[in-house]
Amino acid sequence: MQQFIEKYDFKGKKAIVRVDFNVPLNEKFEITDDTRIRRAMPTLKKVLAGGGSLIIMSHLGRPKGVADKFSLRHIVDHVAECLGAPVKFAPDCQKAQAEVAALKPGEALLLENLRFYAEEEGKPRGLAEDASDEEKKAAKKAVKESQKDFVKTLASYADCYINDAFGTAHRAHGSTALIADYFPDDKMFGYLMEGEIKAIDNVLKNARHPFTAIIGGSKVSSKLAVLENMLEKVDNLIIGGGMGYTFIKAQGGRIGNSLHEDDLMPQALEILAKAKEKGVKIYLSSQTVIADDFSNEANTQVVPSNAIPEGWEGMDAGAESLATWKEVILGSRTVLWNGPVGVFEMPAFAKGTLQIAEDLATATEKGAYTLVGGGDSVAAVTQMGYADKVSYVSTGGGAMLEALEGKELPGIAAIRG
Ligand code: AMP
Repeated sequence: MQQFIEKYDFKGKKAIVRVDFNVPLNEKFEITDDTRIRRAMPTLKKVLAGGGSLIIMSHLGRPKGVADKFSLRHIVDHVAECLGAPVKFAPDCQKAQAEVAALKPGEALLLENLRFYAEEEGKPRGLAEDASDEEKKAAKKAVKESQKDFVKTLASYADCYINDAFGTAHRAHGSTALIADYFPDDKMFGYLMEGEIKAIDNVLKNARHPFTAIIGGSKVSSKLAVLENMLEKVDNLIIGGGMGYTFIKAQGGRIGNSLHEDDLMPQALEILAKAKEKGVKIYLSSQTVIADDFSNEANTQVVPSNAIPEGWEGMDAGAESLATWKEVILGSRTVLWNGPVGVFEMPAFAKGTLQIAEDLATATEKGAYTLVGGGDSVAAVTQMGYADKVSYVSTGGGAMLEALEGKELPGIAAIRG
């Protein structure tokens, strides 16, 4: 049965906690953004304050085996600083028995990168490129078999299991899902996971209406399932960013050299038709800031989005689109934002995305529930200084995207099941 961190008695217990410490490091192995570490602290501190000890586990990057570049030893000191307690380090996550045995209440141990072992992901490594289907199948079977021992060893370290790694909740990996089976009565979400799940429920299950979703970013193909699921939930759907041009072209507009996916045009038209059927209002960008080069220094013009001249490409939403969208956002009681509405990495084309961040902040102030979920919109809202002016900013890119598609995430199911 699922437990709850707030009520669980950690006194004298060893808690193994899956966190997402997959933080960006520079070439000197300094952490350039410690958001993920800081967001896990309430959970880690709760265990220590309750008289328990911590075994912290995470992945870092995408190693193909043991590689110092991906070692979690680079972050131990910073974790200790954030935690306000010493953190020991176990250089092999499968051989930490002695370090675990020595752990006393109030102490913490960080295990080395779980992905130094192929068993964490349960995917074979080092297969020859020309491996036959049989060889691939056998390798997969072998790693799945050894994965059982890998998970069992991790589980043997602790009395209870906490999953606080929303960033990997969409993966059915050893430490994110399979390990939960060893703690049928002592498994729980951490505070960060609880917060993310509540945020998802606030938009997918308990949204107050009018509900508006703003879906931007580069490609329709990566957001198709989100768009389809949103049609079932929202009153208004704002489609911006590069993906908007596929919709505009599909309707017969001239989009010049703008980003688009010809093969997705039938699906775009289907979405527009379905929206009409369901009474969902779709707001594409009516006006576009175009450039004669994909560069911050390019020449620009502002034109209707369906009349972009050849040799020019859409880079940001125009003032007219932003004014329409603003009215829709401020008239909403729930707003979900996923994906920038322009090439916000270039200051010349960041105005639209900045305006959306500002509109969400204003809507929040007026009492709306606002969630910034997934990928680049999270980076944008954080960079632009609006992260604490909206209701919730998600820490999970892929995980949030899959949740918004309506999928049940394995990391969540493993605790609830
Ligand atoms: P995604 O990862 O799909 O959310 O897409 C985010 C990316 O979309 C960002 O890197 C943006 O620069 C990019 N993007 C947004 N609008 C445009 C546009 N009009 N043309 C090209 N790329 C865009």
